[in-house]
Amino acid sequence: MLTGKISYSEIDRVRQLFEQCRNVVIATHSSADGDAIGSSLGLYEYLKKKGKDVRVVVPNYFPDFLKWMKDADQIIQYDRHRAQAKMYIERADLIVCIDLNEPKRMDDLAEPIVQASARKLMIDHHLNPDRFCDVTVSYPSASSACELVFRIIDSIGGLPNLTKAGAEDIYAGMCTDTGKFSFNSNDPDIFIIISELLKKGIDKDKIIRNIYNNYTEGRFRLLGYILSQKLKVLPEYHAAFFTLDRNELGQFSYIKGDTEGVVNMPLEIKGTKLSIFLREDTEKPRILCSLRSVDDFPANKMAAEFFNGGGHLNAAGGNLSCSLDEAVEIIYRALEAYKDMLQA
Ligand code: 5GP
Ligand code: MN
Repeated sequence: MLTGKISYSEIDRVRQLFEQCRNVVIATHSSADGDAIGSSLGLYEYLKKKGKDVRVVVPNYFPDFLKWMKDADQIIQYDRHRAQAKMYIERADLIVCIDLNEPKRMDDLAEPIVQASARKLMIDHHLNPDRFCDVTVSYPSASSACELVFRIIDSIGGLPNLTKAGAEDIYAGMCTDTGKFSFNSNDPDIFIIISELLKKGIDKDKIIRNIYNNYTEGRFRLLGYILSQKLKVLPEYHAAFFTLDRNELGQFSYIKGDTEGVVNMPLEIKGTKLSIFLREDTEKPRILCSLRSVDDFPANKMAAEFFNGGGHLNAAGGNLSCSLDEAVEIIYRALEAYKDMLQA
């Protein structure tokens, strides 16, 4: 049915890991997004149905608009429940690191995971995976970690053990990592997978409403403020950017997740190829950077070169230890360096 994207030898090794494990910890990246939570809970559903003891651990807070997923309230937040999370990590015989390619994407959670004696499995779709796991299933061409979770379950003959809730989780992550199937989603297999998920009885329209029509009033008004007051459009670079400092975030009762996806919006302006968003972190003294691009403009290369980060071709990010004003200067330097590619 699906093309065999994942190699037979990897599937075999994953099958063995899943057969032999009893106590599983699934861990994902800090500031988890729809794909991180969806892939973690999707795999959790499957392994629980197989009779395993499974815990999902995230480094820190994740957005409220993902909390409708079944058992989202069972997810252990490492920054608030360290001792409990460490206990499960030490007890685990399998740790699955999902939607991340290197330990540092887990912030403080990285250390106990790297130190743990459990066997480790990476399931990810970012470039350049760090080989810190016993088995690495890394396919940057996949739309999402959720797509890879589905492919793994399907390849090991596990679809009957994928619950409706698991199908909802997987759909949610595929949907959010492709902007509701508007980018990175030309692989025909994606739609075969969706068809299989629908056969599990999911209501995809409701999932989309749960994720996207679930804004706080603060987020909705913040959006208006960004678009009317903050957005700088630079036609000479085919680019646009905006920044938010802590004061501005406070004015709109900002809670984490409120700016999720907003960086995509300037790409709706005719001729724009690159959008950049800089936000003062509310937790640490740093500037968080998000980049989005279209076609073959390498947002990840720009992020690596100028914003101390990386990511996918069209969706990348990083962080800077400087003032917001200095970070804006870095934007202009980056635009100047990539001017030819942006004008092409
Ligand atoms: P976002 O803009 O949603 O925070 O991040 C988009 C993508 O950029 C992420 O999926 C991830 O691949 C990448 N990314 C974000 N922040 C960082 C970072 O600090 N370092 C690296 N290497 N990649 C990042
Ligand atoms: Mn992802």
